[in-house]
Amino acid sequence: MTEPNQPVTVKLLRDVVALGQKYSKTAFPNPTRNGCPNSSTLRAMAYRDRRLRLGDIPVSHVVSCSPCFQEYTRLRRMSVLTHGIQVTAASLVVLAVLFVSVRFVWNYTRGRGEPSISREHRAEPQPRVATQQAPPRIAPLALTVNLASFSPTRGDDAKGDSGNTVHLPQKSLRVNFLLPLGMEPGEYAVRLKDSTGTVVAEKLAVGQMNDGITSVEVDIDLAGASRGSFTLVIRPPGLSWRRFPVVVE
Ligand SMILES: [Zn+2]
Repeated sequence: MTEPNQPVTVKLLRDVVALGQKYSKTAFPNPTRNGCPNSSTLRAMAYRDRRLRLGDIPVSHVVSCSPCFQEYTRLRRMSVLTHGIQVTAASLVVLAVLFVSVRFVWNYTRGRGEPSISREHRAEPQPRVATQQAPPRIAPLALTVNLASFSPTRGDDAKGDSGNTVHLPQKSLRVNFLLPLGMEPGEYAVRLKDSTGTVVAEKLAVGQMNDGITSVEVDIDLAGASRGSFTLVIRPPGLSWRRFPVVVE
């Protein structure tokens, strides 16, 4: 026999339901609810409250009182439903944690650039990006041309008469022209004319003074120019053009 102080067992409560189902839910009408336990006891039964002692459970009453049995089965259904919702919620939490974890590992792997399938897929667009970012452009050759020793002629009326000639390589150039003494800082116009007088390059540049010498830096692309004689003409701010003979070689 079961002792009155034993905890509620699942088997016992199943027996209650089974017993009740044997009889009709309406076989034991009890309109006055004579001897009925209170609702909290029925609820404790339905929710399998472990604090409930066997002696507290009015099993014999519930199975022989239709109103109590109906209330018990209703509470029991709610208990099962609530438990199911709790299980579902717990499952969703587990799923969410798993999803976040997988995403984290996935991003971590991608960020680390470790060999993986995703990296293989990413490798394809990279060459295209590389060509966009690094067009085949050769950095200009930097050189300094000192024009201080030149005594340029004024205007277009005569060729350079100094006997000096500027020699420029047939390349893309970034030339820093050191200008003759007396030339002020400001905006300079720089032109390169070929032997027929056609302007092949024209730049504006700001002359800046360093240690009393004004210089202008201009990019001149001579990579596609023909070799031979050219004329460099420079117009200081507010002054007329100065001419310097150039040989591209
Ligand atoms: Zn009852």
